[in-house]
Amino acid sequence: LNIATNNTLPKIAILGATGSIGDTFFRLVRQFPNQVEIAAIVGGSNYSKAYALAEEFRPSVVCLESVVGVDVRHLQSKFKVVCNDFYLGSNAGLEALNLVDVDIVVCAITGIAGLRSCYRAVSLGKSVLLANKESLVCAGQLIKMTAKESSARIISIDSEHSAIEQLLEGRSRDVNTFPSLAEVNKLILTASGGPFREYSQERLKAVTPEQAVNHPRWQMGAKISVDSATMVNKALEVAEAFWLFESKISDIDVLVHPQSIFHALIELCDGSLLAQLGATDMVGPISYALSRALGRARFSDILRRPSIDQLRELNFYAVDEELFPAIKIMKSCLQSGGTAPCIFNSANEFAVAAFLEKKIAFLDITYCIDLALNKFSSSSYSSIDELLNLHTEIAEYLASAVTNS
Ligand code: NAD
Ligand code: MG
Repeated sequence: LNIATNNTLPKIAILGATGSIGDTFFRLVRQFPNQVEIAAIVGGSNYSKAYALAEEFRPSVVCLESVVGVDVRHLQSKFKVVCNDFYLGSNAGLEALNLVDVDIVVCAITGIAGLRSCYRAVSLGKSVLLANKESLVCAGQLIKMTAKESSARIISIDSEHSAIEQLLEGRSRDVNTFPSLAEVNKLILTASGGPFREYSQERLKAVTPEQAVNHPRWQMGAKISVDSATMVNKALEVAEAFWLFESKISDIDVLVHPQSIFHALIELCDGSLLAQLGATDMVGPISYALSRALGRARFSDILRRPSIDQLRELNFYAVDEELFPAIKIMKSCLQSGGTAPCIFNSANEFAVAAFLEKKIAFLDITYCIDLALNKFSSSSYSSIDELLNLHTEIAEYLASAVTNS
């Protein structure tokens, strides 16, 4: 029998397709073909990788932010063979969403550079698979409000938040329906503690970018690897949890767990703890988010089970707030509200880039965050433009502070 093939697969745009999350996403899609149609591929400057992906998946559009050392006209004609539209220029993510109508958007651009496109995806009421936590940190209030208006669904592809979503699955908002979210007292994110968990202040001073990007558990992009080393990543994730789960700041805890087998725990009102465990592989959170967006059961046989050897030694520690003050600082930013978390994030983005370029030392990263928070006072905001302008101002201020120091 000839069964007609279903030509209307859900369309998906991958913003940040050429990065680490992109890699893992495509690994999943190759393992489970015919689940989605890759309609848009968006990347920064890696045109050869974007081309290879376009050749493989034949999207309708490919959008890149910038390229260097290549003839643009030649590139355009090359891409036209493997996609309908090719765009090169700023706001590549936004342009992709203008050029093609999709059902699902994977937001996996690093940093505030992903904010405009993330916000557009939310405004359009899409299912948003969110890796780009920085967007939610900077504009959580606006994004959540907009999502409620547009009925956009935001599903995190951060391992800890995915774990919490899985732990909260099936709980109702209605306090009279059981199980209800009201039974949940605390959300507990685990943190590997990064490569310098056991370093002294003295040793931290001399840390190099090469050491910082070499994360002991996760293979990730350079920026998030440095964020893990400073524990700024966990600070961003506390803000991410605050907005995603609409939780109280005091109900979000962090537990250092170097093996990264426990991704998160929730504490219930009777004192029970529930945890989500699994391999340290981002295909877990990505496949869970995609299955939810598609309204289908979980994908089978995705994750390798942790071995008995891996489970034998599991350690948990409190965060050393003296050496790694980022989480504490972020909690007070969330308390202040308004633009404070954005100021934190923008200062960090500047500082991480400066650190990777060897312009500042490792410990200067948190110093830059402090400096910016002292200089810029938090205020309310009502648009993405305001936040992006503030971001530029902070970068300019810190650039001159670094030059003059
Ligand atoms: P990465 O550096 O490997 O990839 C970033 C991607 O964004 C690349 O495709 C790059 O070309 C693209 N990009 C960068 N600037 C751009 C711009 N201005 N316009 C268009 N595209 C641009 O980073 P990653 O590790 O994949 O992380 C991506 C996001 O996911 C980050 O927000 C990170 O915090 C989050 N995240 C990553 C992991 C992980 O395991 N890698 C885990 C959790 C969350
Ligand atoms: Mg994470």
